[in-house]
Amino acid sequence: MRIDLHCHSTASDGTDTPGELVRKAGAAGLDVVALTDHDTTRGYAEALAALPSGLTLVTGAELSCRVDGVSMHMLAYLFDPEEPALLAERELVRDDRVPRARAMVARLNELGVPVTWEQVARIAGEGSVGRPHVATALVELGVVPTVDDAFGENWLADGGRAHVEKHESDPFEAIRLVKGAGGVTVFAHPGASKRGRTVPESVVAELAAAGLDGIEVDHMDHDADTRARLRGLAADLGLLVTGSSDYHGSRKTCVLGEYTTDPEVYGEITRRATGAFPVPGTGGA
Ligand code: AMP
Ligand code: FE
Ligand code: FE
Ligand code: ZN
Repeated sequence: MRIDLHCHSTASDGTDTPGELVRKAGAAGLDVVALTDHDTTRGYAEALAALPSGLTLVTGAELSCRVDGVSMHMLAYLFDPEEPALLAERELVRDDRVPRARAMVARLNELGVPVTWEQVARIAGEGSVGRPHVATALVELGVVPTVDDAFGENWLADGGRAHVEKHESDPFEAIRLVKGAGGVTVFAHPGASKRGRTVPESVVAELAAAGLDGIEVDHMDHDADTRARLRGLAADLGLLVTGSSDYHGSRKTCVLGEYTTDPEVYGEITRRATGAFPVPGTGGA
Protein backbone atom coordinates (compact mmCIF):
# COMPACT_ATOMS: atom_id res chain seq x y z
CA MET A 1 0.00 0.00 0.00
CA ARG A 2 1.32 3.44 -0.93
CA ILE A 3 -0.26 6.19 1.13
CA ASP A 4 0.43 9.92 0.64
CA LEU A 5 -1.34 12.00 3.27
CA HIS A 6 -0.47 15.59 2.33
CA CYS A 7 -1.22 17.13 -1.10
CA HIS A 8 -2.35 20.52 -2.40
CA SER A 9 -4.50 21.48 -5.38
CA THR A 10 -5.63 24.71 -7.01
CA ALA A 11 -8.11 25.00 -4.13
CA SER A 12 -5.08 26.52 -2.36
CA ASP A 13 -1.52 26.84 -3.63
CA GLY A 14 -1.06 23.67 -5.69
CA THR A 15 -0.99 23.85 -9.49
CA ASP A 16 -3.10 20.78 -10.35
CA THR A 17 -6.87 20.98 -10.10
CA PRO A 18 -8.34 18.53 -7.56
CA GLY A 19 -9.41 16.33 -10.49
CA GLU A 20 -5.94 16.36 -12.04
CA LEU A 21 -4.42 15.63 -8.65
CA VAL A 22 -6.39 12.43 -8.05
CA ARG A 23 -5.89 11.27 -11.64
CA LYS A 24 -2.13 11.77 -11.28
CA ALA A 25 -2.16 10.06 -7.88
CA GLY A 26 -3.89 7.06 -9.43
CA ALA A 27 -1.46 7.02 -12.36
CA ALA A 28 1.46 7.25 -9.91
CA GLY A 29 0.28 3.99 -8.35
CA LEU A 30 -0.85 5.43 -5.02
CA ASP A 31 -3.50 3.50 -3.10
CA VAL A 32 -4.48 6.37 -0.80
CA VAL A 33 -4.14 10.13 -1.26
CA ALA A 34 -5.18 12.92 1.10
CA LEU A 35 -6.32 16.30 -0.20
CA THR A 36 -5.04 18.84 2.35
CA ASP A 37 -5.43 22.32 0.95
CA HIS A 38 -4.57 25.29 3.13
CA ASP A 39 -7.55 26.33 5.26
CA THR A 40 -10.16 25.05 2.81
CA THR A 41 -12.20 22.02 1.82
CA ARG A 42 -13.24 23.57 -1.49
CA GLY A 43 -11.52 20.90 -3.60
CA TYR A 44 -13.38 17.91 -2.16
CA ALA A 45 -16.30 17.73 -4.62
CA GLU A 46 -14.13 17.81 -7.73
CA ALA A 47 -11.65 15.30 -6.31
CA LEU A 48 -14.45 12.90 -5.39
CA ALA A 49 -16.07 13.22 -8.80
CA ALA A 50 -12.79 12.41 -10.58
CA LEU A 51 -11.52 9.72 -8.19
CA PRO A 52 -10.13 6.78 -10.21
CA SER A 53 -10.86 3.22 -9.18
CA GLY A 54 -8.10 1.73 -7.07
CA LEU A 55 -7.42 5.06 -5.32
CA THR A 56 -8.96 6.02 -1.98
CA LEU A 57 -9.42 9.68 -1.04
CA VAL A 58 -8.85 10.93 2.49
CA THR A 59 -10.41 14.36 2.88
CA GLY A 60 -8.48 16.87 4.95
CA ALA A 61 -7.02 20.34 5.24
CA GLU A 62 -3.82 22.00 6.40
CA LEU A 63 -4.70 24.59 9.01
CA SER A 64 -2.54 27.69 9.49
CA CYS A 65 -1.65 28.05 13.16
CA ARG A 66 0.69 30.08 15.34
CA VAL A 67 1.97 29.47 18.85
CA ASP A 68 4.24 31.82 20.81
CA GLY A 69 4.83 33.80 17.63
CA VAL A 70 5.91 30.73 15.61
CA SER A 71 3.84 29.79 12.55
CA MET A 72 3.03 26.10 12.18
CA HIS A 73 0.78 23.93 10.03
CA MET A 74 -1.71 21.42 11.41
CA LEU A 75 -2.95 18.67 9.12
CA ALA A 76 -6.52 17.69 9.87
CA TYR A 77 -8.07 14.54 8.46
CA LEU A 78 -11.55 13.12 8.08
CA PHE A 79 -13.38 15.86 9.97
CA ASP A 80 -16.96 16.77 9.14
CA PRO A 81 -16.50 19.64 6.64
CA GLU A 82 -19.82 21.16 7.63
CA GLU A 83 -19.30 21.22 11.40
CA PRO A 84 -20.00 24.92 12.13
CA ALA A 85 -17.26 25.81 14.64
CA LEU A 86 -14.38 24.43 12.59
CA LEU A 87 -15.94 25.79 9.40
CA ALA A 88 -16.09 29.29 10.93
CA GLU A 89 -12.43 29.08 11.97
CA ARG A 90 -11.35 28.01 8.47
CA GLU A 91 -13.31 30.88 6.96
CA LEU A 92 -11.74 33.36 9.36
CA VAL A 93 -8.22 32.30 8.40
CA ARG A 94 -8.97 32.00 4.70
CA ASP A 95 -10.78 35.32 4.40
CA ASP A 96 -7.91 37.14 6.11
CA ARG A 97 -5.59 35.87 3.38
CA VAL A 98 -7.06 38.39 0.92
CA PRO A 99 -6.27 41.68 2.73
CA ARG A 100 -2.96 40.14 3.74
CA ALA A 101 -2.02 39.33 0.12
CA ARG A 102 -3.06 42.88 -0.86
CA ALA A 103 -0.78 44.22 1.88
CA MET A 104 2.12 42.16 0.52
CA VAL A 105 1.44 43.63 -2.94
CA ALA A 106 1.56 47.12 -1.41
CA ARG A 107 4.90 46.31 0.29
CA LEU A 108 6.30 45.07 -3.00
CA ASN A 109 5.12 48.24 -4.74
CA GLU A 110 6.99 50.25 -2.10
CA LEU A 111 10.04 48.16 -2.91
CA GLY A 112 9.66 49.13 -6.57
CA VAL A 113 8.12 45.89 -7.84
CA PRO A 114 5.21 46.62 -10.24
CA VAL A 115 3.08 43.66 -9.10
CA THR A 116 -0.69 44.22 -8.94
CA TRP A 117 -3.43 42.61 -6.88
CA GLU A 118 -5.20 41.71 -10.15
CA GLN A 119 -2.16 39.67 -11.20
CA VAL A 120 -1.99 37.80 -7.88
CA ALA A 121 -5.76 37.23 -7.89
CA ARG A 122 -5.57 35.82 -11.42
CA ILE A 123 -2.79 33.40 -10.39
CA ALA A 124 -4.68 32.32 -7.26
CA GLY A 125 -7.95 31.85 -9.16
CA GLU A 126 -10.47 30.33 -6.77
CA GLY A 127 -7.77 29.03 -4.44
CA SER A 128 -7.15 30.40 -0.95
CA VAL A 129 -4.56 33.04 -1.78
CA GLY A 130 -1.07 32.78 -0.30
CA ARG A 131 2.58 33.64 -0.65
CA PRO A 132 3.15 31.01 -3.38
CA HIS A 133 0.77 32.96 -5.66
CA VAL A 134 2.62 36.20 -4.93
CA ALA A 135 5.86 34.29 -5.54
CA THR A 136 4.60 33.15 -8.96
CA ALA A 137 3.81 36.79 -9.79
CA LEU A 138 7.41 37.73 -8.90
CA VAL A 139 8.66 35.02 -11.25
CA GLU A 140 6.32 36.23 -14.02
CA LEU A 141 7.70 39.75 -13.59
CA GLY A 142 11.28 38.50 -13.79
CA VAL A 143 12.08 39.79 -10.28
CA VAL A 144 13.35 36.35 -9.24
CA PRO A 145 14.09 33.25 -11.33
CA THR A 146 12.09 30.75 -9.26
CA VAL A 147 9.33 30.51 -6.66
CA ASP A 148 11.92 29.23 -4.23
CA ASP A 149 13.98 32.42 -4.70
CA ALA A 150 10.86 34.49 -4.02
CA PHE A 151 10.78 32.84 -0.58
CA GLY A 152 14.23 34.30 0.17
CA GLU A 153 14.92 36.77 2.99
CA ASN A 154 14.73 39.70 0.58
CA TRP A 155 11.16 38.95 -0.35
CA LEU A 156 8.55 36.59 1.11
CA ALA A 157 10.34 34.52 3.76
CA ASP A 158 8.97 34.78 7.30
CA GLY A 159 10.12 38.22 8.40
CA GLY A 160 11.26 39.07 4.85
CA ARG A 161 10.86 42.57 3.43
CA ALA A 162 7.54 41.84 1.71
CA HIS A 163 6.14 39.33 4.21
CA VAL A 164 2.94 40.21 6.03
CA GLU A 165 1.52 37.91 8.68
CA LYS A 166 -1.99 36.52 8.32
CA HIS A 167 -4.46 35.48 10.97
CA GLU A 168 -3.48 32.03 12.23
CA SER A 169 -5.28 29.79 14.70
CA ASP A 170 -4.10 28.78 18.12
CA PRO A 171 -3.07 25.13 17.59
CA PHE A 172 -4.63 24.04 20.88
CA GLU A 173 -7.91 25.53 19.69
CA ALA A 174 -7.41 23.90 16.28
CA ILE A 175 -6.98 20.48 17.91
CA ARG A 176 -10.12 21.05 19.97
CA LEU A 177 -12.11 22.15 16.91
CA VAL A 178 -10.91 19.30 14.69
CA LYS A 179 -11.71 16.74 17.38
CA GLY A 180 -15.11 18.39 17.82
CA ALA A 181 -15.69 17.80 14.11
CA GLY A 182 -14.66 14.14 14.40
CA GLY A 183 -11.23 14.60 12.82
CA VAL A 184 -7.63 13.61 13.48
CA THR A 185 -4.67 16.03 13.76
CA VAL A 186 -1.07 15.67 12.59
CA PHE A 187 1.52 18.43 13.07
CA ALA A 188 2.87 19.08 9.53
CA HIS A 189 6.65 19.25 8.94
CA PRO A 190 7.44 20.21 12.57
CA GLY A 191 11.18 20.33 11.90
CA ALA A 192 11.14 22.43 8.73
CA SER A 193 13.74 24.86 10.06
CA LYS A 194 14.59 26.45 6.71
CA ARG A 195 11.11 27.96 6.69
CA GLY A 196 11.79 29.87 9.89
CA ARG A 197 11.65 29.21 13.61
CA THR A 198 10.18 25.85 14.63
CA VAL A 199 8.00 24.92 17.58
CA PRO A 200 10.05 23.66 20.58
CA GLU A 201 9.68 20.06 21.71
CA SER A 202 8.17 21.22 25.01
CA VAL A 203 5.26 22.72 23.08
CA VAL A 204 4.88 19.57 20.95
CA ALA A 205 4.54 17.72 24.27
CA GLU A 206 1.81 20.14 25.35
CA LEU A 207 0.04 19.67 22.02
CA ALA A 208 0.25 15.90 22.49
CA ALA A 209 -1.28 16.27 25.95
CA ALA A 210 -4.04 18.37 24.36
CA GLY A 211 -4.91 15.53 21.96
CA LEU A 212 -2.61 15.90 18.97
CA ASP A 213 -2.63 12.54 17.18
CA GLY A 214 0.62 12.56 15.25
CA ILE A 215 3.55 14.32 13.65
CA GLU A 216 4.72 14.28 10.05
CA VAL A 217 8.28 12.96 10.09
CA ASP A 218 9.15 11.84 6.55
CA HIS A 219 8.99 15.12 4.63
CA MET A 220 11.27 16.81 2.10
CA ASP A 221 12.07 19.63 4.54
CA HIS A 222 13.50 17.21 7.16
CA ASP A 223 17.05 15.91 6.92
CA ALA A 224 18.03 12.49 8.29
CA ASP A 225 19.01 13.84 11.73
CA THR A 226 15.76 15.76 12.07
CA ARG A 227 13.75 12.65 11.16
CA ALA A 228 15.58 10.55 13.71
CA ARG A 229 15.01 13.17 16.41
CA LEU A 230 11.31 13.49 15.52
CA ARG A 231 10.84 9.70 15.50
CA GLY A 232 12.25 9.62 19.01
CA LEU A 233 10.00 12.46 20.09
CA ALA A 234 6.94 10.69 18.65
CA ALA A 235 7.86 7.51 20.51
CA ASP A 236 8.30 9.44 23.77
CA LEU A 237 4.98 11.22 23.39
CA GLY A 238 2.96 8.31 22.00
CA LEU A 239 2.31 10.12 18.70
CA LEU A 240 1.64 8.56 15.31
CA VAL A 241 4.34 9.08 12.66
CA THR A 242 3.36 9.97 9.10
CA GLY A 243 5.23 10.61 5.86
CA SER A 244 4.01 12.50 2.84
CA SER A 245 5.02 14.44 -0.23
CA ASP A 246 3.41 17.84 0.48
CA TYR A 247 2.87 17.86 -3.28
CA HIS A 248 2.12 21.31 -4.77
CA GLY A 249 2.24 20.41 -8.49
CA SER A 250 4.84 22.49 -10.33
CA ARG A 251 5.22 25.01 -7.49
CA LYS A 252 7.51 22.68 -5.57
CA THR A 253 9.97 20.05 -6.65
CA CYS A 254 8.49 17.10 -4.74
CA VAL A 255 6.57 14.38 -6.59
CA LEU A 256 3.45 12.47 -5.53
CA GLY A 257 4.29 9.58 -3.24
CA GLU A 258 7.85 10.83 -2.64
CA TYR A 259 7.29 10.00 1.03
CA THR A 260 4.56 7.75 2.33
CA THR A 261 2.80 6.69 5.53
CA ASP A 262 2.87 3.22 7.06
CA PRO A 263 -0.42 1.34 6.42
CA GLU A 264 -0.77 0.61 10.15
CA VAL A 265 -0.62 4.30 10.97
CA TYR A 266 -3.11 5.03 8.23
CA GLY A 267 -5.39 2.37 9.69
CA GLU A 268 -5.14 3.99 13.11
CA ILE A 269 -6.00 7.42 11.68
CA THR A 270 -9.10 6.02 9.99
CA ARG A 271 -10.11 4.20 13.21
CA ARG A 272 -9.87 7.41 15.24
CA ALA A 273 -11.86 9.51 12.77
CA THR A 274 -15.61 9.83 13.10
CA GLY A 275 -16.34 12.98 11.09
CA ALA A 276 -15.82 11.51 7.62
CA PHE A 277 -14.58 8.29 6.08
CA PRO A 278 -12.09 7.49 3.32
CA VAL A 279 -13.80 7.20 -0.06
CA PRO A 280 -12.74 4.43 -2.44
CA GLY A 281 -12.69 5.53 -6.07
CA THR A 282 -15.18 4.02 -8.47
CA GLY A 283 -13.69 5.25 -11.73
CA GLY A 284 -14.68 8.88 -11.76
CA ALA A 285 -17.40 10.80 -13.54
P1 AMP B 1 1.21 31.28 3.28
O1 AMP B 1 0.29 30.21 3.79
O2 AMP B 1 0.52 32.20 2.33
O3 AMP B 1 1.94 32.01 4.36
O4 AMP B 1 2.32 30.56 2.40
C1 AMP B 1 2.98 29.46 2.92
C2 AMP B 1 3.13 28.44 1.82
O5 AMP B 1 4.28 28.72 1.09
C3 AMP B 1 3.29 27.02 2.33
O6 AMP B 1 2.21 26.26 1.87
C4 AMP B 1 4.48 26.46 1.65
O7 AMP B 1 4.11 25.30 0.95
C5 AMP B 1 4.87 27.51 0.67
N1 AMP B 1 6.32 27.67 0.68
C6 AMP B 1 7.09 27.99 1.72
N2 AMP B 1 8.40 28.04 1.34
C7 AMP B 1 8.42 27.74 0.02
C8 AMP B 1 9.44 27.62 -0.97
N3 AMP B 1 10.72 27.84 -0.67
N4 AMP B 1 9.08 27.29 -2.22
C9 AMP B 1 7.79 27.09 -2.54
N5 AMP B 1 6.78 27.19 -1.66
C10 AMP B 1 7.09 27.50 -0.41
FE1 FE C 1 1.39 25.31 0.47
FE1 FE D 1 2.66 23.13 5.29
ZN1 ZN E 1 1.32 21.54 2.78
